[in-house]
Amino acid sequence: MPDLPELPEVLSDRAVGPGDRRYPRLRSTYTKVHSPELILMPRTASEVAAAVVFAGASEMPLSVRSGGHGLSGRSSNDGGIVIDLSELDQIEVIDRDARIVRIGPGARWATVADALAPYGWAISSGDHGNVGVGGLATAGGIGWFARSYGLTIDHIRAVDVVLADGRQVRADADNEPDLFWAMRGAGDSVGIAVAFEIEAVPLPDVGVAQLLLEADRNGDTLRRWSEHLADAPLELTTNGIMFSRGGSFLLQLTAVVADGNLKLAKPLGKLGLRLVDQHAQLAPYSALVPTGHLHPNMGQQRSISTSGLLPTLTRGSARALMDVSAHPTGPLLQLRSVGGAINAVDREATAYPHRHQQVLAILSEFPPSGGAELDAAWRAVVPYVDGAYRNFESRPTERTFRQAFPGVAGDRVSKLRDHFDPAGVLRRQT
Ligand SMILES: Cc1cc2nc3c(=O)[nH]c(=O)nc-3n(C[C@H](O)[C@H](O)[C@H](O)COP(=O)(O)OP(=O)(O)OC[C@H]3O[C@@H](n4cnc5c(N)ncnc54)[C@H](O)[C@@H]3O)c2cc1C
Repeated sequence: MPDLPELPEVLSDRAVGPGDRRYPRLRSTYTKVHSPELILMPRTASEVAAAVVFAGASEMPLSVRSGGHGLSGRSSNDGGIVIDLSELDQIEVIDRDARIVRIGPGARWATVADALAPYGWAISSGDHGNVGVGGLATAGGIGWFARSYGLTIDHIRAVDVVLADGRQVRADADNEPDLFWAMRGAGDSVGIAVAFEIEAVPLPDVGVAQLLLEADRNGDTLRRWSEHLADAPLELTTNGIMFSRGGSFLLQLTAVVADGNLKLAKPLGKLGLRLVDQHAQLAPYSALVPTGHLHPNMGQQRSISTSGLLPTLTRGSARALMDVSAHPTGPLLQLRSVGGAINAVDREATAYPHRHQQVLAILSEFPPSGGAELDAAWRAVVPYVDGAYRNFESRPTERTFRQAFPGVAGDRVSKLRDHFDPAGVLRRQT
């Protein structure tokens, strides 16, 4: 292993190594236990710059961590350096009229929702409050009201970035527009985001309906669900989990209605063979990503996941998803509504080019058995997959990169990676 260069003075009290009492809580991520050689905990953009220059000189593996909730576990490593951004967790309203909120990458989405609740505002992020701002807001953000709000990245107005050579750059529509493009979808390999300015929306209480439907094996329930969502009012967004047991199937749907009009969720009850159970209530948005979700990430959720985006489901693709769910290895299949406001954004506007699909399917295995079983289950749906969301991919490869960034988007990301990080320091994230 290469020797560590001398730590710069500015980071001398920001380093945590294996002998430190904080190390057990800082070494790992949500899905993996790791053993980094050194964890650096900068508090400012300048300290992040010093940390990345130091890491660049070291030639050791490097990880950048915001919340540590990444599914690939790449935000820590074994024997390398971790730049942990958890102390850059400020949340500040900087323009009340325009509802612009400046947020550090180390904040968690539960804390963001909690901080915005007194204003009656929200930023759609994801379905879990412990997910970090940095990893989600550099890749996409498919959240509880995705169909009315779009992706989290669609509302980013500026990003402060530290480049691999330590330069600090503000990226927005007028300054460094290429960097701004890349940081909204492909940020992880281009720069380190140290602050985001994001436009919130006013959001009164949302309607939340939980429905349990008996689903048919041939996929008709899924096809009807997808057809219904393709035309439903944008206020309605749904997330589903398919449970398969002994030849019968239950689809657990959570429907979130952004304007609180729970009548919009009612037709969902008719999509299955039978409505087994349902509950509905109004709740503040912060109850969907509650601070009760917050926990240290210590490798407790060993799992692997893969994902695929699909257009409105056909008989063939819906049936294939049921085959995936029925696979004897018993993987967990989640289905999310995309479309709506996500698809109203030009596919070239950000480094998230998937602006025509309607469904995100995510397959996970807990605990992982090496990947072969997950791949065997997923195979049925592969012919129908039309793109992927990289934040639900545990095993990033060149093939999954090209699914997340098809065609010219991938070429542009690769070119910008080489331009902003010619030495490939951030690509040392393994
Ligand atoms: C339980 C669970 C639920 C989820 N639900 C959703 C959901 O509903 N919607 C959704 O969109 N996603 C969801 N995700 C995926 C989530 O978006 C990613 O896992 C995300 O990367 C987590 O962000 P983080 O900051 O915690 O990640 P980390 O583990 O800290 O980072 C993940 C990777 O992101 C990059 N990165 C992190 N911070 C920065 C930064 N500041 N600058 C540049 N690159 C950075 C690094 O490459 C790092 O390896 C979920 C994940 C889990 C585990």
